[in-house]
Amino acid sequence: MRTYHARKMDKEAIYPSQAWKITEEEFLLDHNHHNEAIFTLGNGYMGLRGTLEEDYPGSEDTSTPGFYINGVYASEKIMYGEEAPNLPQNGQTMVNLADWSEINLYINEEKLNLLKGQILDYKRELDLQQGVLRRKILWEDRQGRKIEVKITRLISLSREHIGAIRYQFKAINFSGKISVNSAVNGDVSNHHHLRDKKALEVIESEVDTNTGHLLHRVKSTNFKVAYVVEHLLDERSKDNAEVKKRSSDNRVDWIFDISAVEGEEYTIDKIVGVNHSQEEGENPLSDARASAARASITGFENLVEEQAEFMSGYWQDVDVKIDGDDSLQQAFRFNAFHILQATGKDGQTSVAAKGISGEYYEGHYFWDTESYILPFYAFQRPEVARNLLLFRYNTLDKARKNAERMKLNGVLFPWRTINGEEASGFFMGSTVQYHINADIAYAVNLYYQVSRDQEFIENYGLEILIETARMWLSLGSYIPMKNNQFCFNVVCGPDEYKPGVNNNAYTNYMAKFNLDTAVKMAEIIKERAPEKYKRLSERIGLTENEIKEMKEIKEDIYLPHNEELEITPQDDSFLYKNPIEVDNIPDAELPLVKNWHPLIIWRYQVIKQADVILLMLQLGDQFGRDLKIRNYDYYEPKTTHDSSLSPAIYSILASEIGYKNQAYNYFMQTARLDLDDYNENAYQGVHTACMGGTWLALVQGFGGMRMFNGKLYFHPHLPDSWNEYQFRLRFKGSQIEVTVKENQVKYMLISGDKVEFKHYDQLIVLEESNLSQEVEIQ
Ligand code: BGC
Repeated sequence: MRTYHARKMDKEAIYPSQAWKITEEEFLLDHNHHNEAIFTLGNGYMGLRGTLEEDYPGSEDTSTPGFYINGVYASEKIMYGEEAPNLPQNGQTMVNLADWSEINLYINEEKLNLLKGQILDYKRELDLQQGVLRRKILWEDRQGRKIEVKITRLISLSREHIGAIRYQFKAINFSGKISVNSAVNGDVSNHHHLRDKKALEVIESEVDTNTGHLLHRVKSTNFKVAYVVEHLLDERSKDNAEVKKRSSDNRVDWIFDISAVEGEEYTIDKIVGVNHSQEEGENPLSDARASAARASITGFENLVEEQAEFMSGYWQDVDVKIDGDDSLQQAFRFNAFHILQATGKDGQTSVAAKGISGEYYEGHYFWDTESYILPFYAFQRPEVARNLLLFRYNTLDKARKNAERMKLNGVLFPWRTINGEEASGFFMGSTVQYHINADIAYAVNLYYQVSRDQEFIENYGLEILIETARMWLSLGSYIPMKNNQFCFNVVCGPDEYKPGVNNNAYTNYMAKFNLDTAVKMAEIIKERAPEKYKRLSERIGLTENEIKEMKEIKEDIYLPHNEELEITPQDDSFLYKNPIEVDNIPDAELPLVKNWHPLIIWRYQVIKQADVILLMLQLGDQFGRDLKIRNYDYYEPKTTHDSSLSPAIYSILASEIGYKNQAYNYFMQTARLDLDDYNENAYQGVHTACMGGTWLALVQGFGGMRMFNGKLYFHPHLPDSWNEYQFRLRFKGSQIEVTVKENQVKYMLISGDKVEFKHYDQLIVLEESNLSQEVEIQ
C-alpha cells in the first residue's frame, strides 16, 4: 500500500468501537454533515438522511437535509459546452422530497436549540441489530429549565411505505407549557445538480386534528408523491394537550400544546405513509393513507418489534462474525446494514452509487450494482439479486435505443441511469465504458450458477445475455494489423483514467465471456425449453447464423499479453505512456480527478481503480498465479485508488497471491471508508459499492471463495491479528457456514440437501450424513 493511502487511514475513529452500534457521543457541528449520511435510514424504497428533528442550528455548509424515494427523479435538458451528434439529451436527478421528520419543541416560547442553552447530556445511536435510530438529549434552556427528549426513528423494512418517529419528553425541574410543533415541510429544494433546484410543486395539502397530508408533483417528470401523517398521543399527552393546526402553501403543521408536569414523560408518535406514482389515474395519496392507517393501528412499539424481527432474519443470512477486531466487526455490520437500506427490491429500481443517502451522483445506478453488490445478494439473499437483474431486464428497450444511438446492435446498457436511459453527458467517462454490458452478463451468469433459477434464466436471463452479446459483435472488428484478430477499439475499462483506448484487456476478456455465456446458455435452453427458446428467438430475431457468428468471433477476440514484461497490458497504449508511481505524486495533487486536467492524466501510466487486477479476479480461472503476481506488482504502484471501488479488489488479489499485509491494509481501507471518512466525502452519501466490496474482500479475499463454471472453491486464511471469522453462504438452494481459525476451517451445512465444493484441492461434500467437516488450512 502506498504511503498516501496509509496516511489517510491514520485517522482517529469518529465513533467508539461497538459490535452492533454506531454512537455519536457528543453533538459537534463539525461532525454533523458526516453524521447525516452515516445515520441515514432507508428501506430500498425511501431514505431519510440523519438530520435532526429540530431545526438545524449550524451553518448551511454543514448540512444537506434530504428525504428521497429511490427512482423518483427530475429531468432537465443536458447543457453541452460543445454539441455533437447523438449525445444524450436529458439528465435524471433524484429529487429531494418533503421533510416529514421535522419536529420542534418549545418550552413556553423558547425553542429547543442545541447551540443555545446547554446540552447536559447527548447521545445518538444507530442500532444495527434492531434497525432503529435513537437520540437522547438532556438540555437546559437559558432560564435553567431542564428537559429530556428521547427520539426513536425508523424507516420500516417490512412495510416499504412507512416511516415513524417516537418523540418523548420529560420536564425535569419544572411544570409548564411545552409545545411540540410537528410538520411536513414541502418547501424543499435540491442542493446540487439541478438548475431549477425547486423541482417540486405542492398540489394539495390538508390538516386535521392529528392527521393530514401533502401531495407533491415533480414538475419535469410528473411523479406524484404523497405524504400522509398520523399522530398518536399517549393517554397523558391526550389529556393535557390542545392541538392547533396550520396549512400553508407548502407545509402542514400541528402544534401540540401540553401542560407538562415535572417528572412526567409525554409521548407523541408520528407515523408517516409515503407513496409515489408516475402513472396517470393512480392515486398515491389513497395508498399512502391506507399504509399510514394500517401502521397506526399496528402502533409504534409493534413497528419497532417488526423491525427487530426483520433485522434478525437478515442477520441470520448476512452477518459476518469477526473475533479479534471490534472496529471491523462494527464496520461490517454497518456496511451490510446500509446495503440493505440502499437496495431497491421491486425490479423497477436498483442500488444507487450513494444509495438513498445523499444527492451526489444524482441517485444514479452504475455497474457498481452488478459488480460489487449483486454477489453479496446472490450468495446470501438470492431473491434480491434476481430483482436487481430484473431491473436491467425491465429497461432492455431503453438499452436497445441506447445501442441504436451508438450505431450498435442488441443493447447497450447505460453507464449511469435511473430510468434506464443514459443520463451522462460526459461520454468519455460513460458511454465509452461498454464493459457494463459484460458486467451485467457476468452478473446474470453468477446469479444463475449460484441459484439455479431456471425460470429466471429462461424467461429473462437469456435475453439479457443474447442482447448484450450482440452489441459486442457490432462494436468490434477484425483488424489486419492485429493479425486479423477481433478488436474493440476506443473503449474504456473500469479504469476511468484511460478512456478511448484500444483493446482494454478487461473489456476484451469480458466481452469474450459475455459471448461465450450467451452461446452456452442459448444451447442449454434450446435443448431444455425449446418452445421458450423459439418464442424468444422469434421475438428478438435471433437466428442460428447469429449464434454461429458469436461462436466464431469469440474465438477470434484479441486477448492482450505483453511478452517482454510478461504481464497483461491494460490496453494497447498503456505501456507506452509516461511511467509514474503514486508515491511520486505529491499528496496535495491527489485525487487526480480533482487536480489534473484529464489530458495530463491520460499521458501517464496512472490508474484510478482496479482494472487488469479486477480481470484477474473475475476470470481468475483463466490466469496463472505467476501472471497474477506480475500484474499486481506492475499495476499496484501505479494505482491511485481515486475510486472507492478499487482497494477491495486489490485486497482480494493480494490475499490470493499471499501478500497478506497488503490484503489486510486494503481491506481496512475498504471496510471503514465511510465510518472513518477516509476520503472526507462521506457526507455526500455512503459508498455502496465499497460496502459491497468489504464483503467481497472478506469472503473472496480472506475466505478465498471463488465460483467458476458453477463450481465453488475456498482457499481461506486468517489475518494475523484475528482469532476467527465466520460467514454464511447460499449455494444451489443450500446454506453453509464457514468458520476460519488459525490453522483450521470448519464448513457446516445449515440447510438444504447437499453441497459440494473444493477446499484447496480437497473435495468436500456436506450432506445429512456429514453435516460439518473440519479441515486444515494449507
Ligand atoms: C468510478 C466508477 C463508479 C462510479 C460510481 C466512479 O468514481 O470510477 O467506476 O461506477 O464512481 O460509484
